[in-house]
Amino acid sequence: MGVIRRTGLFVLQVNPILCDSFGHCAELAPDLVHLDEWGYPIISSEPVPMADIGAYESARYAERGCPRKALHIAKIHPPAPEPVSRGRGRV
Ligand code: SF4
Repeated sequence: MGVIRRTGLFVLQVNPILCDSFGHCAELAPDLVHLDEWGYPIISSEPVPMADIGAYESARYAERGCPRKALHIAKIHPPAPEPVSRGRGRV
């Protein structure tokens, strides 16, 4: 059995045009989604590590459970490391 490594970050995003403000997402992902006074989701734009399994699963529940398909998990991959120059290295 293989091991799944979760690297990178994600952000749960909402499309406010599609959202109907019913607030189901706040029940599915209470750690990520809060509602404003009209029931529209307030979601932090701070990236969350993919390794945070609980947060990622909550985001997936919310994304799948949104009746208007207004939620999207945007995956953010860290920049590739700088290439290591070889040749004229240490003397
Ligand atoms: S579940 Fe979807 S439609 Fe309902 S408030 Fe959340 S984002 Fe909006």
